[in-house]
Amino acid sequence: MHEIPVAIGLGSNLTDRMRNLNFAIDRLRDHLHPLTVSPVFETLPELYTDQPPFLNACCIGYTVLTPRQLLSALQDAERIAGRTRSGPRFGPRELDLDLLLFGDQVIETPQLVVPHPRLRERAFVVVPLAEIAPAWEIPASRGDPSETVQEVLSRLDTTGVSLFAE
Ligand code: AMP
Repeated sequence: MHEIPVAIGLGSNLTDRMRNLNFAIDRLRDHLHPLTVSPVFETLPELYTDQPPFLNACCIGYTVLTPRQLLSALQDAERIAGRTRSGPRFGPRELDLDLLLFGDQVIETPQLVVPHPRLRERAFVVVPLAEIAPAWEIPASRGDPSETVQEVLSRLDTTGVSLFAE
């Protein structure tokens, strides 16, 4: 079996945010080896600004799962953490898990788009990811060139993303 390096984005802005992130990290330990976890950042909400601030982090590790299997493991964890899908998109949530990067693969299916389509524009994802994988080369996709996480970070506005816990 081939192990592929993957990156996952984590977010929570409801109930006990730190507990929700720790729950997700524990679940990810079953699938990513070794698991590296970024520091946790607190982020002011974008779009729907009338909601509590998020905690965000990223994890990287190697997996033997397929992209589809990994996505389904992430969705199971979201469900168990109590997320309901009835609220607005980009609205409050106990736990949001995104498959950001799957090696250097580019995936475009109705269920899964990798690299994550909003990865390069979200400081709350790129800031934690740059702490643990600055040199990761994000493959060219959707008209964007191949570039490292650090290169993406250098052109993002990171005000609104502040360190919460190491
Ligand atoms: P959201 O409510 O923003 O978390 O979106 C969840 C939906 O996005 C699910 O139906 C997934 O199938 C889809 N999706 C597409 N690409 C990804 C990705 N890279 N990571 C997580 N979910 C994805």
